Amino acid sequence: MKSRILFSAALFLLLACGPVSKTTQQDPVDYVNTLTGTLSKFELSTGNTYPAVAVPWGAHFWTPQTGLNGDGWTYRYDANHIRGLKQTHQPSPWINDYGAWSLMPLTRPVYEEKARASWFSHKAETATPYYYSVYLADYDIIAELTPASHAAAVRIAYPQDDPAYLVVDAYAGGQVSLKDANTLVGCSVQNHGGVTENFRNWFVVTSDTPFTLCPAADGIALVQFDRSQTVNLKVASSFISEEQALLNLQELQGDFDAVKTAARADWNATLGRVEVEDDNLDHLRTFYSCLYRSVLFPRDLSEVNAAGERVHYSPHNGKVEKGHFFTDTGFWDTFRSLFPLMNLLYPEKSAQVQEGLVNDYLESGFLPEWASPGHRGCMVGNNSASVVADAYLSGIRGYDVEILWEAVTHDAHAVMDGVSSTGRLGWQYYDSLGYVPCDVGISENAARTLEYAYDDWCIWQLGKALGRPDEELAPYLKAARNYAHLYDPEYRLMNGKSLAGEFRRPFSPLKWGGDFTEGNSLHYTWSVFHDVEGLIGLMGGDEAFASQLDTVFAMAPKYDDSYYGFPIHEITEMTVMGMGNYAHGNQPIQHMLYLYDWCGQPWKAQARIREVMEKFYTPWADGYCGDEDNGQTSAWYVFSALGFYPVCPASGQYALGTPLFKKAVLHLPGGDVTIDAPDNGADACYVSSLTLNGRKWDRNYLLQKDLQKGASLRFGMSAEPSYTRGTAAEARPYSLSNE
Ligand code: CA
Repeated sequence: MKSRILFSAALFLLLACGPVSKTTQQDPVDYVNTLTGTLSKFELSTGNTYPAVAVPWGAHFWTPQTGLNGDGWTYRYDANHIRGLKQTHQPSPWINDYGAWSLMPLTRPVYEEKARASWFSHKAETATPYYYSVYLADYDIIAELTPASHAAAVRIAYPQDDPAYLVVDAYAGGQVSLKDANTLVGCSVQNHGGVTENFRNWFVVTSDTPFTLCPAADGIALVQFDRSQTVNLKVASSFISEEQALLNLQELQGDFDAVKTAARADWNATLGRVEVEDDNLDHLRTFYSCLYRSVLFPRDLSEVNAAGERVHYSPHNGKVEKGHFFTDTGFWDTFRSLFPLMNLLYPEKSAQVQEGLVNDYLESGFLPEWASPGHRGCMVGNNSASVVADAYLSGIRGYDVEILWEAVTHDAHAVMDGVSSTGRLGWQYYDSLGYVPCDVGISENAARTLEYAYDDWCIWQLGKALGRPDEELAPYLKAARNYAHLYDPEYRLMNGKSLAGEFRRPFSPLKWGGDFTEGNSLHYTWSVFHDVEGLIGLMGGDEAFASQLDTVFAMAPKYDDSYYGFPIHEITEMTVMGMGNYAHGNQPIQHMLYLYDWCGQPWKAQARIREVMEKFYTPWADGYCGDEDNGQTSAWYVFSALGFYPVCPASGQYALGTPLFKKAVLHLPGGDVTIDAPDNGADACYVSSLTLNGRKWDRNYLLQKDLQKGASLRFGMSAEPSYTRGTAAEARPYSLSNE
C-alpha cells in the first residue's frame, strides 16, 4: 500500500508540474501523439493505426488492446474497454497480426478476453512511443509498460485489499507454462500466412514477486501473486527459441525507470535528426507524430545470439540464418517516400535494410513486395527495384549489391509460385508487348504496367551505377518508356489496353479498380515518376498537362465503384475531403501535386501542398485522411514540411514544394542542412526566392548530393505567387526524355 501511495503522489506531482516544465523545454518525443490515426473503422480510415509502444524499427511492438484478438482494429480510440497489453507485429488491419500474445492484470480470477476487459478513459491514459500507462477502472490497477526491441518492462500497481492476478494469453494454439515460481514461458503460433510450419513467437515473463498458477483455459495462464503490491515484470520474445527469449531479457538493463529512460533517449536520438521551429504547436506535434510513424516500419526481426552473432528466424525457410532481416512493409506504398526518407536521414539503417533484402533473396529466391513477415499476396508492382536502386544511388554501402542486382533482374522476369504480387505477374505479356493486356485475366493490369515501366527505369539506373554493359541495360531503358503504350489520346489519360492493342471501351475515368489498383485513371495517369516530360509530351504540352492536373481538383468527387460493388474506404476518404477527385488518402496520387513543377506552374504545387498539409494532417485521433500505411503517408508530410519531396526515387533529386516551418535543421552524417524561411506563415505559402549556400538557386528541385554534404537553404516566402521563379525549362526536375 505504501509504495502505491508514494507512486500516486509522485504521479500527481508529475502531472501538476508537467505543463510548467513542458513550456520551457520539450524534447522531440514529447510532441508525438501515438494515438493519431486510431479513430478509424472499416468504412473510413483516419490512419488505421494503433498506438505502437516500441523502440524505432523494434522487433516487437506493444499496444493496448481494445478489440478481440484477430480484429484488425486492435485499438480504437472510441472504445471504452481494454482487454490486455498486447505484443503485436501487425503492419495494417488489412494484413492482420502474427505472433501476438498479451498481458492483463486484474483482481478477479477471470481470464477470457471478454470477461477480463476493464473500462478505461483517455484521461487516465498516457500514450507515448517509449511509455504507456493506463488506469484499469474495473480493478483499480495502474499498468505501465516501457519497451526495448525484443523485451519490455511492465509495472503493475495492484490495490492492497484485493487479490492480485495476471493473465498471460498466448491465444488459440499457443502455450504458456510455469517454469519456476517467478517465471512463465510460452509461445504464440498465431499468424495469417507468410510463415513456415515451425513458426513460433517464444516468450518469457519474469516477475519480482512469486506467483502460483490458477486454473484457466488452453493457451492462457492465470497466476496469482503472493502479495498485493507493485509488481515488476520483465518480458522478452524470440522468433528463434525459448533460450533466445531468455537471452533477450538482457536488453532490459536496470529497473523499470532505467528501461524507460533508455527508450526515451533512443526516441529522442532518432527523432532529433530533425529539429524544427514554429510558433504553431500543432505543426510541431503533427511533424513529430509523422516522423515517429516513419521510423517504426520496417521492423528488424533479427536477434543477437549467445555467441554475439546477429541472426534471424527466416519466415522463408524456417531456419535460423545470419544477419539482419526487415519486414512488415508493402513496397507499393513505401517505395514512394518512406525509403527515400530513410536513405536521407538514417543511411546507417538503410544499409541494414539492404542487407536484409539480400537475405530475403538468398532465402526465398525473390525480393519481397509485401512482407509480413514472409511474402504476402497484396497489391501490385515490382517496386523492390526502386527500394534497391534508390538506396544504392543514395550512396548506401556495406552490403552485397551484386546479389541485389541479380535479384532485381531476376524478379523482373518471374513471378512467385502462390504469391502473385511477388515478382511481376504478367511479365511474359509485358516483356513481349510492352504492357500487361486488360483482357487476359490479369486484374489491375494498367497499374502493373505503369509501375513495371518505372521499375525498369530503376533497374537501368542501378545497372549504370554498377557499370553493367550497355547490351544488358538496353532492354530496361527501352522498357522504361512502356508507360506510353497505355496513354489513350482520346481521353488524355492512361487506359487499359487489350491483347489486340485496342483501348478499353467504354472507358470510365472514374472507375476505381479493374485495370487500376485502389484508384482510377485520374489517380494513376501520373505514375510516370521517371519521365514526367514524356507524359507532358503525350498530353500535348505544358498547358494541356496543367489543365489535366487542374481537372482532378475542379471536378466533383464522383466515382464508379462497380468493380468493388461498394465504396471502399479509400473512395469515401476521397469524397469527404472536399478536394474533388484528388485522393491523398491513398498512395498512387500522393506525388501528383508536385508535378506542377514540371510544367512551369510551381505556385500551384505550393498552394495545394500547403492546403494538404494544413487540412489533411493533424496530431489528433482522426489525424490522417486515409490509411497511414507503414510510414508512407507520414513520410509524405515529413518531406513536404521540409519543403521538398522525392517524386522519382533513384533520380538523385527532390522536387521543390513549400516549407512549413520558419526553420528546420537536418542532422545528416555529412553535415547539417539548415532550412530557413523567416517570412513563413499561414498566409505565406508561396516560394518567392531560394538560395543554396548563399547563392541564388532557381531550380525547381534540390540535388540529393548537395544536401548530403550539408547545406544552407534560405527560402523567401510570400502571400503572392511568383510567376517567374522556377518556370524556366532548365528549372524542371529530372525526366528520362531530357537525358
Ligand atoms: Ca493505402
